[in-house]
Amino acid sequence: MRIMLLGAPGVGKGTQAKKIQEKFPIPQISTGEILRAAVKNQTELGKQAKVIMEKGELVPDDLIVGLVRERLQEEDCKKGFILDGFPRTIPQAEALDVLLQELNMKLNAVIDIDVDYEKIIARLTNRRLCPSCGADYNLLNNPPNPDNTCKKCGETVIQRDDDKEGTIRNRLEVYEKQTRPLKDFYAEKGMLKVVNGDQGVDDVFGKIVKILGD
Ligand code: AMP
Repeated sequence: MRIMLLGAPGVGKGTQAKKIQEKFPIPQISTGEILRAAVKNQTELGKQAKVIMEKGELVPDDLIVGLVRERLQEEDCKKGFILDGFPRTIPQAEALDVLLQELNMKLNAVIDIDVDYEKIIARLTNRRLCPSCGADYNLLNNPPNPDNTCKKCGETVIQRDDDKEGTIRNRLEVYEKQTRPLKDFYAEKGMLKVVNGDQGVDDVFGKIVKILGD
């Protein structure tokens, strides 16, 4: 099963990808997570990406496509994968088409999770992340322990640098200009399914599972 999750930052792509990964044994490929790991490990890629990510801009297409090209050829992707946060531009989507053709693979589902921008801003400012195990939290509806530690591993949770309000607005502008056009790109191919993301995590997941079942 090869799945792509589309949608603005903060609609819950990562949360849903992790739930899909628990139900079906396929890896989540989050370009954001790969980049954050590179920044943490201070690799060459991480050094280039850090400044761009802090501003809420997009990392250049060729770097991202190179990352995904390598990742899709790893053994665990033979069973399928969930793309989360990639593609984010039309050139990335076109490069993905070529790459999938080369690898003799086809996408089974492109799912757009849809949430209003005002609600997204509220969600993102309240979002917290465990820097150790990657668990996602939200102070509004899925809080960490009362002492701000991760329920899974006990590490103190943090706010992502790019989840501060100024950066969030820029990320949404970048999404509007560069990423939202992907909805038309996949709708024209007859592949797009839209799920209302303004519901509980389990309700959104139920809709996604139904689409995958169909
Ligand atoms: P995310 O965790 O998906 O919100 O990604 C965090 C940040 O990583 C984004 O704001 C971008 O700066 C960068 N990033 C992640 N995925 C991509 C992508 N496909 N293309 C360009 N930049 C990306």
